[in-house]
Amino acid sequence: MGAQPGRVGPNAILQSREALEALGGVELAVRVFEAAGLLPLYDVPPVEMVPQDKAMALHRAIRAALPEDEALWAAREGGYRTGRYILAKRIPKFAREMLQILPAPLAGRLLLKAIQKHAWTFAGTGRVITAPGPPMEIVIEDNPLAQPGCPWHGSVFETLFGRLVAPHVRVSHPACCATGAPACRFLIDISGA
Ligand SMILES: [Zn+2]
Repeated sequence: MGAQPGRVGPNAILQSREALEALGGVELAVRVFEAAGLLPLYDVPPVEMVPQDKAMALHRAIRAALPEDEALWAAREGGYRTGRYILAKRIPKFAREMLQILPAPLAGRLLLKAIQKHAWTFAGTGRVITAPGPPMEIVIEDNPLAQPGCPWHGSVFETLFGRLVAPHVRVSHPACCATGAPACRFLIDISGA
């Protein structure tokens, strides 16, 4: 699979489905997919990249169809599950082990590079810029999946950096496209303070 304009990895949908089913069973998941106009993707889950508009529609429907606390939980849970999927299936074992034994700032730099390289999977047409900091920073200009506070993205980054770089990672999101900023900025603090 390579980058294609306007597409993101299927986990933006698949893991959100898992999160919704964990929250309220099949009934709730079907209701949200239906609200998003995505029942066909519920019946036949995507195995390859998906149009970013469809991932956006699902993430928006989660917020629109559920009470605020449940929507936040589902978005974060979808992000955690996506992070765990990437750790298990997309990062080779030797790379995981190498990152885990390297000093955190160095492991962080390498992980940022890998994230930059695969940015299309979570940012679609958004332009991704990373900086080693500290704190490390991931910027997504015109983030096509932005939701206020971007709980899905934050949870993906928290999972990856928490498992591969430093267990006490803190991810903050001081600027967001969904609330008018030109770019979504994520700060990743591994200082442990
Ligand atoms: Zn955002």
